[in-house]
Amino acid sequence: MKDTTFTRRAAILGAAALPAIRNAAAQARPRAVVISSANRNNGGVNCCAKAMEILKAGGDTLDAVIAGVNIVELDPRDSSVGYGGLPNEEGVVELDSSCMHGPSRRGGAVGALRNIKTPSKVARMVMEQTDHMMLVGEGALRFARAMGFKEEDLLTEESRLQWLTWKKSLRDGSGHNNWGPGIDAPPSEQRKAAVLREIKEMFPNASEELLAEAWENAIHPPHGTINCIALNEKGEMSAVTTTSGLAWKIPGRVGDSPIVGGGLWLDQDVGGAGSTGRGEENLRVCGAHTVVENMRHGMAPKDACLDALKRVSRNFNDDLKRLEPIDLNFYALRKDGECAGAALWNKASVNATRGAQFAVCRDGGESRQENSVFLYERK
Ligand code: ASP
Repeated sequence: MKDTTFTRRAAILGAAALPAIRNAAAQARPRAVVISSANRNNGGVNCCAKAMEILKAGGDTLDAVIAGVNIVELDPRDSSVGYGGLPNEEGVVELDSSCMHGPSRRGGAVGALRNIKTPSKVARMVMEQTDHMMLVGEGALRFARAMGFKEEDLLTEESRLQWLTWKKSLRDGSGHNNWGPGIDAPPSEQRKAAVLREIKEMFPNASEELLAEAWENAIHPPHGTINCIALNEKGEMSAVTTTSGLAWKIPGRVGDSPIVGGGLWLDQDVGGAGSTGRGEENLRVCGAHTVVENMRHGMAPKDACLDALKRVSRNFNDDLKRLEPIDLNFYALRKDGECAGAALWNKASVNATRGAQFAVCRDGGESRQENSVFLYERK
């Protein structure tokens, strides 16, 4: 007869050990975590550090994420978010933002908002002070005015330079552009040198670095955004996404960032997710919602994000040539503190000096950038 004593005892011991193991794992996990996109000039790291400071002082998770992204919105050096963001095709900065507050399970959003440096705060006001979910354009601006926000010109000299460089870089079928010296214009092969010479005359103090960036951005209109998600010691969560969207867009274009479910989603029972990159592709898979639902059904944050990226890839029949120009990133934070960043490609399509990363600050640790997982590797 088969002796089952050992097996049975082991099973009993094993079962008894399970809660202890779970407890140990839970204890090893940081109780508060903030993640964000990486962003330039240490934007993500500073954002997460600020948000963690607020969590540690007992602040609400939505206060924390909004204070974090406000740093980037107000920083004119980040040309993809808030003040100093690259404008639409008419030279007007239009901002998009959304936020979700886990404990109250509510959200708010603004799209194509002009003249207000911190759209994330206006999105929060939509959530708190109205019975609506989203306000756009002129209505959003009037609402912001009513809430006491100060109107300001969001176009900096650097972003005006970049916009004019783009205007001057364009050519019609015969090589002509109204934003240049007309019939005396040099042939289009010399257009880069000619455009930058004209821009230099208009902006004599512009650095070579800014001119090079302006040309690159004229040829490859950039995206950029900050998404931030926080978890506090009580298990409460909130999230925010804010952006100036796609540079040189048609006025009124909104991407995924202000779309609750697209560029941001949070379910207090599961976790939160957000996105940066080409919003149009994210919207076609309802990305942030998809990531959170994946986590609800048991996927780890990194797998949940990679699965959403696979759906984006599927929309292109997994044709890497067509996917090549697309940059898209997801960020996910699960309710137990497990988190991940994930990118379609290991590196951005233009000017990538390092691989895809996200920022994270775990309770008791420093705020820093960590590597994202990725679906495809650029050759
Ligand atoms: N997702 C933003 C948009 O499409 C831009 C970005 O993150 O690059 O508007």
